[in-house]
Amino acid sequence: VDREEDDVTPVRWIRINPLRCNDYDTSNVLEELKKKFPNRVEHWTEIQPGSIYYDEFIPNVFGVHPRDKITSHELYRQGKVIIQDRASCFPAHILNPGKDDVVIDACAAPGNKTTHIAAHLLPSVGRDQSPRIYAFEKEPARSKVLKKMINVAGCGNFIEINVGDFTKLAVPEKFQDVTGLVVDPSCSGSGIFGRKSVDSHNIAKKKADEEVQVPDEEEKMVEDDVRNRLNKLASFQFQVVKHAMSLPKARKIVYSTCSVHAEENERVVIDLLLDKKVQQWGWRVAPKDKVIPTWPRRGIVEEFAQVFRDDDEKCQRLAEGCIRALPREDGGIGFFAVCFER
Ligand code: SAM
Repeated sequence: VDREEDDVTPVRWIRINPLRCNDYDTSNVLEELKKKFPNRVEHWTEIQPGSIYYDEFIPNVFGVHPRDKITSHELYRQGKVIIQDRASCFPAHILNPGKDDVVIDACAAPGNKTTHIAAHLLPSVGRDQSPRIYAFEKEPARSKVLKKMINVAGCGNFIEINVGDFTKLAVPEKFQDVTGLVVDPSCSGSGIFGRKSVDSHNIAKKKADEEVQVPDEEEKMVEDDVRNRLNKLASFQFQVVKHAMSLPKARKIVYSTCSVHAEENERVVIDLLLDKKVQQWGWRVAPKDKVIPTWPRRGIVEEFAQVFRDDDEKCQRLAEGCIRALPREDGGIGFFAVCFER
């Protein structure tokens, strides 16, 4: 992707891909980046053409100026550097799989998170093992893109692609052993900017812009459509995460969206926590200290308070277990992530 993005994207986020480095040692690639971007800045808001910001939250992630066309650089062509929004790097970092883990990426294409999971897992297990990452993708056309991305990232033989619906997964022996999952299902995409979509966020803005106090009939219908759509998405998202939770040896699940809507985020978490089966299986929201504790923007406590009214401490704990990123304001796309554990 090499679009004119500098008017929409404040930062171009890249990560060094250890899978394309000798012995997974990223230092040579970093040296190359230093040559291209000699001026290191302390905060992403200070990025100018030619400068680089070393992200403080995710290892091997850097911010550069969108006008510095990284796509024409050799490092990018060789798959040593991958363009990936910083927030989109949260899930694999939170899952942090190690040498004893077997991982499913339940909604994988185009594969940014899949290859990032591999970047965590491969160095500790080696390449001669049988696949330890299973990537599911329902759409055959998108699974081709996934395959290509995985090959470019240098982990083609290590990841097994399953073209099909993850929620219809028959559970053969190998999936019984899965310990960790990333669930990043289709969502409204309301956190992605530069995309023209009618959603309630835009409607709210339009209303404010036009100082419309009461929605007229037409606007109300659009708003109802949006609510219906969000409800449908939320119920699908709930089903995918619940299915992930049914895997017998799963211990850790990271759920994420690039939506700003609570319906797809905190409220999905709430519905899962209220589900009898989920409770029986013993799943809970992982505490803040396991979910990038230094990231300042957390979940919306008021959403939890609407349901767990009498328990302020619980609402606070749940909200702090969630991560949010606001579009643009936090340097990239809008994002939500939460980790379930048992
Ligand atoms: N995780 C990806 C990444 O970081 O590159 C982005 C995933 S995108 C938000 C959601 C993907 O899930 C889409 O490619 C969609 O086709 C796929 N999908 C939706 N429902 C699915 C299902 N039931 N099983 C498997 N894949 C599904």
